[in-house]
Amino acid sequence: MEAPHPTPFRLGAQWRTGGAGDPVITSIDPADGSVAGTVVRATPADVDQAVSLAWDAFRRQPWRKLRPDQRAATLYEIGRRLLAEREPLARLQMRDSGKPWKECLHMVDSAAGHFRYYAAVCETWQNELTSPRGEYFSMALAEPFGVIAAITPWNSPIMNEAQKAAPALAAGNAVLLKPSEETPQLALELARICTEAGLPEGLLIVLPGHGEDVGAALVGHPGVRMVSFTGGTETGRAIGAVAGRRLIPAGLELGGKSPHIVFEDADLDRAVAGVMSGIFGSAGQSCVAGSRLFVQKSVYARVMDALVARTRELRVGLPHDPATQMGPLVSRAHRDKVAGYVDIARGEGGKVLVGGAMPADPALARGWFYLPTIIDGLDNRARACQEEIFGPVLVALPFDDEDDVVAQANDTAFGLAAGMWTADYARAWRVAREIEAGSVWINTYKQSHIATPFGGFKDSGLGREKGLHGLRLYSQVKSVYWGLHQQPMGL
Ligand code: NDP
Repeated sequence: MEAPHPTPFRLGAQWRTGGAGDPVITSIDPADGSVAGTVVRATPADVDQAVSLAWDAFRRQPWRKLRPDQRAATLYEIGRRLLAEREPLARLQMRDSGKPWKECLHMVDSAAGHFRYYAAVCETWQNELTSPRGEYFSMALAEPFGVIAAITPWNSPIMNEAQKAAPALAAGNAVLLKPSEETPQLALELARICTEAGLPEGLLIVLPGHGEDVGAALVGHPGVRMVSFTGGTETGRAIGAVAGRRLIPAGLELGGKSPHIVFEDADLDRAVAGVMSGIFGSAGQSCVAGSRLFVQKSVYARVMDALVARTRELRVGLPHDPATQMGPLVSRAHRDKVAGYVDIARGEGGKVLVGGAMPADPALARGWFYLPTIIDGLDNRARACQEEIFGPVLVALPFDDEDDVVAQANDTAFGLAAGMWTADYARAWRVAREIEAGSVWINTYKQSHIATPFGGFKDSGLGREKGLHGLRLYSQVKSVYWGLHQQPMGL
């Protein structure tokens, strides 16, 4: 049987269909190693063409000059169409990323939610009129940058892309989007839906290429005026350095090693459930995973016993099985990296309390599965406690009191998120203020709200996405003074 043609991508009104021998990206289904799809691979030459098409679209098409309610109508329509295709998109997502079915549905809902929310922001956004201090008006206007680049990782396809494209388009920009080579298919679907919803040609161009050539070409291109990146800290640092040299703004959403704290007065049952979903949701492939657990010494044994018992019962399985609680990791290379970290932890003196291996179930033998794993006996300075593993691996450490846990929690280069469980509201407030993190959860974890800003302290990033901050990230401020003087000014 002839292999199916790779999915093309669109450069303005043209399709890049790829010819025989042209490079493709092959997406592998992490559940069984089969081919989930192939797409035509973009090259740096395509970046040049895409930048000029996007500038043409930005300058020629009336998009940024449309009334906000007209722009909002298209964004609402994109959200509506995403929901109308919820199940097929979730099915594609499941094969591209290996996420369990429910998570895939959530990704599509969240993507639609971003378009709906930024449609509302677009329509209700108010520029600032400053109080006059003389014979003039002055005002601050949010203006688009023009052409911006958005680069996304593989862990939440379509949601990550929507989180950037929706506010950037709402602000009036043209967007060049490079998804991860691991999961290129959903971004192409998003571009199709945007075009069908009436977004003018050239305002969202998806370039499914590799980071080191297409991603780097985008960031370094003189026609790109702003870059928004989500991914690993080292990649973010390299992109930030190029952006710094070019003096363009960079929004950087990077990695984490988030502390999750259980105080002795907490509702321990709820805390254990929260800790488990904090680390094992998305098989730990989540930037905000609560991957460093701190438990107060007086309840350490109790909490660990309950945690280990419940982790043993966690259902690792195929993504389409409704009973599955944790699916595979995204690729063989990533699974091996996670397993390598567990070996490092063992070498550092860590004790694996549960997991620490691939599952024995033969039904899972062809995929990239790894058992949910809990390790203790390490010092907070150990590599397994300091480096982002991005898999279902929890390191547990006991602590004495509030001062001790705040010091240990902050003893990391990262600062993306933190969580705590306690019945003492005054302590919750104190600790929330002391923790160096962009998001802090009290008696909940991984709660997320589209209107609440998201981003990192320290090595976890720069800038904030979501909420009104999300629109500001993709806008530059122009101050306009409007003189009303009857007499000529000046000397
Ligand atoms: P990477 O940093 O490896 O890659 C992210 C994206 O950047 C990919 O599209 C990649 O392309 C591209 N890229 C790689 N090198 C360059 C370069 N030199 N210039 C431009 N682009 C480049 O991250 P992963 O995809 O492995 O994702 C996991 C990471 O993402 C974790 O560290 C995680 O914490 C972080 N993350 C952060 C989130 C946040 O909001 N703070 C949310 C989700 C994930 P390609 O893969 O095609 O080569």
